[in-house]
Amino acid sequence: MPYVYRCRQCRATSTPGTRHQAEDARQEHRDNEHGGLAPDGERIERVPGSTRHPDGRYVNTGAVLVLLMLLLVAECTARITSVAGR
Ligand SMILES: [Zn+2]
Repeated sequence: MPYVYRCRQCRATSTPGTRHQAEDARQEHRDNEHGGLAPDGERIERVPGSTRHPDGRYVNTGAVLVLLMLLLVAECTARITSVAGR
């Protein structure tokens, strides 16, 4: 959940969420606290240390499976060629 909305005027920060949720928080904050106007210094920021995708920090399972299959094929090929070479 990588985005927060910050209002420097109020020193307020929304709870982390999607970009869309941060934009909703911005609109709600503008309406409730600033009479619908955009305060100076407001911004939508990515949360430091977060990735673009929530699961991006984890290893891609599909890539690991492909690598394991390649190793299996390589080992079988090596066994077959070593048996055939005797
Ligand atoms: Zn504000």
